[in-house]
Amino acid sequence: MDKKITIAIDGFSSTGKSTLAKQLARQLGYVYVDTGAMYRAVTLYAMRSGFIAADSFDREGLIESLGAISLKFVYNPDLEFAEMFLNDENVEKEIRTLSVSQLVSIVAEVPQVRAKLVEQQKQMGERKGVVMDGRDIGTVVFPNAELKVFMNSAAGVRAQRRFKELVELGQEVTYEDVYKNVIDRDYIDTHREDSPLVKAEDAVEMDNSYISKQEQFEKVLVLAKELIG
Ligand code: C5P
Repeated sequence: MDKKITIAIDGFSSTGKSTLAKQLARQLGYVYVDTGAMYRAVTLYAMRSGFIAADSFDREGLIESLGAISLKFVYNPDLEFAEMFLNDENVEKEIRTLSVSQLVSIVAEVPQVRAKLVEQQKQMGERKGVVMDGRDIGTVVFPNAELKVFMNSAAGVRAQRRFKELVELGQEVTYEDVYKNVIDRDYIDTHREDSPLVKAEDAVEMDNSYISKQEQFEKVLVLAKELIG
């Protein structure tokens, strides 16, 4: 039987991490885990509970309530991916809004939030055969992952992609707000104290500003297959 590996995909916002991770998981018969969805779900909880808003953050209140937050992924065979459930409610749509994107990096800076989510992520990857995407997968969650990919592309290209996605989801957003959000999140994610976004030394760097998603997928698939044997 083929050896199972762990694939860690990290990188800047809107670089196509989840598209690549989903394609790899489907092709290899692996489980895909979108860790950004977990940080987004905690943020949604914090917003609904009044712990965070555009101009305020009750950090201690959120930390004290972490025990009341239960997150799980439930596979949807029609969509062919696992949807995020927050305390048994499907929040897949709610967590993708720009208002969640505007607060998620602030919530993701809190070490207690990270500790809770990282523990759950480690458990999900215990048996290998997993493709996980995020910001700290190759550095913190799975430092021993067999294959690590670090993704980047020009900020304008990324903002265009995210803007198109949000418009397709029916959200009323401006390109300027989406661009600003991409830049702001990158800044917070790379400058936070706990588990900042950095390329792991042994990660393969992929800049997809000008190569197609398919080309990129094929390159990474070759690397994965070499390791799987
Ligand atoms: O991947 P996505 O863009 O949905 O992630 C949303 C935010 O969650 C990121 O901008 C980052 O602040 C946070 N995040 C993180 N660590 C991860 C995944 C996401 O800090 N492993």
